[in-house]
Amino acid sequence: MPSVNILVRGIVQGVGFRPFVYQLAHLYGLTGNVKNSSTGVYIHLEGTSSHIDSFLEDLQNKNPSLSKIEEIQTTSAQVDGDTTFSILTSTLSEDAFTLLSPDIAICPDCLNDLNNIEDSRRYHYAFTNCTNCGPRFSIIKKLPYDRPLTTMQNFNMCPSCKEEYENPLDRRFHAQPTCCKACGPALSLLDFQGNTLLGTDPITKTRTLIKSGAILAVKGLGGFHLICDATSQKAIQTLRNRKNRPTKPLALMMKDLGTVLQYCCLNTQEEEVLLGNKKPILLLKKKSEQLPYNICFDNPSLGVMLPYTPLHHMLFDEDLTVLVATSANHSGLPMIFKNLEALEELKDIADYFLMHDRDIYIPIDDSVVKVVLGEERVIRNARGYAPSYFHLVSNEVLALGSEFKNTFCISNNNYCFMSQYIGDMDTLETMHHFNNNVNHFKKMYNINPKLIAYDYHPNFSYQDYVKSYAEEKIGIYHHHAHIASCMAENNINRYVIGIAFDGVGYGDDETLWGSEFLVCNLKEFKRCGHLDYFKMPGGDMATLYPWRLAISLLYEAFGEELEGVLPSYLSDKQIAPVLSMLKNNISCPLTCSIGRLFDGVAGLLGFTHKISYEAEACIYLENLALSSPDTDSNYKFVITERDTLYTIDSIILIQGIVHDLSIGCLHTFISRKFHNTLCLIGLEISKKIRNDCGINQIVLSGGVFQNELLFSGLYTLLIQHNFEVITHKLVPCNDSGLSLGQLVIASELIRK
Ligand code: ZN
Ligand code: ZN
Ligand code: FE
Repeated sequence: MPSVNILVRGIVQGVGFRPFVYQLAHLYGLTGNVKNSSTGVYIHLEGTSSHIDSFLEDLQNKNPSLSKIEEIQTTSAQVDGDTTFSILTSTLSEDAFTLLSPDIAICPDCLNDLNNIEDSRRYHYAFTNCTNCGPRFSIIKKLPYDRPLTTMQNFNMCPSCKEEYENPLDRRFHAQPTCCKACGPALSLLDFQGNTLLGTDPITKTRTLIKSGAILAVKGLGGFHLICDATSQKAIQTLRNRKNRPTKPLALMMKDLGTVLQYCCLNTQEEEVLLGNKKPILLLKKKSEQLPYNICFDNPSLGVMLPYTPLHHMLFDEDLTVLVATSANHSGLPMIFKNLEALEELKDIADYFLMHDRDIYIPIDDSVVKVVLGEERVIRNARGYAPSYFHLVSNEVLALGSEFKNTFCISNNNYCFMSQYIGDMDTLETMHHFNNNVNHFKKMYNINPKLIAYDYHPNFSYQDYVKSYAEEKIGIYHHHAHIASCMAENNINRYVIGIAFDGVGYGDDETLWGSEFLVCNLKEFKRCGHLDYFKMPGGDMATLYPWRLAISLLYEAFGEELEGVLPSYLSDKQIAPVLSMLKNNISCPLTCSIGRLFDGVAGLLGFTHKISYEAEACIYLENLALSSPDTDSNYKFVITERDTLYTIDSIILIQGIVHDLSIGCLHTFISRKFHNTLCLIGLEISKKIRNDCGINQIVLSGGVFQNELLFSGLYTLLIQHNFEVITHKLVPCNDSGLSLGQLVIASELIRK
């Protein structure tokens, strides 16, 4: 009688894989065993060859929906004479890893349990989960994925849960976080002083409090949210004031699809994303102004997610269908995820706390995605998406990523793992969070990096940390990393034309780049085009106050005559000192960033205040253009060539905008023309580079491509001119994607 050993690698733990194997073995009358190890799932089978073949076929094709098989190795084995098929306890082995499932939103079966009044153990129980859903990444301390190595270790299963856990035919067979009212975590509701509110059921009371206008800190899957009634302008304003978040749009959680349809326009792809098992924040077009203006002000889109844990589902009822659900943190700091920390840090923001005693081991934010050009595109990769991984023949490398919107990547010989969104590294708290996560990933995947890849920018917060490393280090240029990240995501390794439209990144001439046309592969790049440099009066101050960039652009275009063309809304600004900086070239770093050009043009078109969140002025400009009637018109521009380096003279462009302002054109129309012009510039330079080097494949990356008008506009033009255009989907085009690019470049550079 034949016998085989099978090793299955991939996302095969914590996703119902062993019960699937068990049931399959029973179906084909096979004996043997299955076990988890840190290399994957091991199966030993004994039976007839035809049954083993059928088993292998089903293993490939009928695997559980959350699993992802990377590889199946089959070897013949000794017959042990097993008489049954059993599930063995896990074994650990050194130098091994398994792929880990992200956290998954509650599944339809568990939702039924939650709403089933007959189910005394799980009816309205906030921690209901099964093999197909629930927490994973956020509660796992170590691999392999087994309950004692998760934050569920402190909860002893009751006999009923244990029975389900041990029954291979049960949906909760080996569901590590499984529990019920009798044995699992419990909710508690506290006031801002930390006193527990007794008497009523915490959830019912929570709903009452939300309806009365209170702000609640609610502990969810990956951290705390601040939650309030999204139909109450007053509650929202209180939240904004207390959180010191004046204008940045707030994310919403809506009761169900029906509610979303009431407020947003939705196509079938968007519906799919919304209803899928990841439940990210999806950016959707607002249907009308039914919700309070202060949720997102003039922004035409809303960030919407559906409830993704049983707890979230229970926050809604017939009258309460839309909630503001924003990450609980102080501006710029990591999200709060521990109970005591929440009580301490959020007591000035939240009126009440709905919390529980299941610890979050690794905090993880909500992901943000948008459907653009018919594809789901990730803007912030976190819950449900992270950790993500890519096949890569590499070494043990750690790529530190970017200063803002940081993620990092770490690789072994076969895979590169990309962390969840970490945040902006300019605070000690985020650096600490970063270090914790790097150590966690090293431990979990058993990787000891021999090489560190980092961004060349001398002012990045992690540079001291880089210096302290004993390992070999490789600096990577920002925009090369952007293009490489998109190449790696799309499995491309040859010469391409890369267009990086971005905020700023440090360039090899020590200026701030951000409108780069590169010819590159994963090893090297040549800069073939960019905008002409312009001055940023006051450096970072110019980023905070876009009107300073407007003055700089006007000065470039009109020199001393600038006062004559100054829009009235800029006349009350402190123009003289800025002009003096420009004239005398004091504290005026040079940039060619498209992001800063957007800022400056936003300033020219009426964005006069200090920005309160990243890219606010760019978004303002895009929103203006979106409300313009469709037009093909554009501004004149001039491309200069010097030794196959193309530069774009923005003076004529700015003069065109000022002319339109002087004849009273609408700002919306001017903005649309400006967007059209940038698309044309992108096309023209791409054509010139194609002529020079014969490359037809174009890779688009950089945070400015989050601007949908620019991205879709340029993409469409390039396709019309027969370019093959490669874009981001899973990996963000913004600086969150940078770490992957750094890692693949570093791997390529050290390859012998
Ligand atoms: Zn479930
Ligand atoms: Zn139980
Ligand atoms: Fe960037």
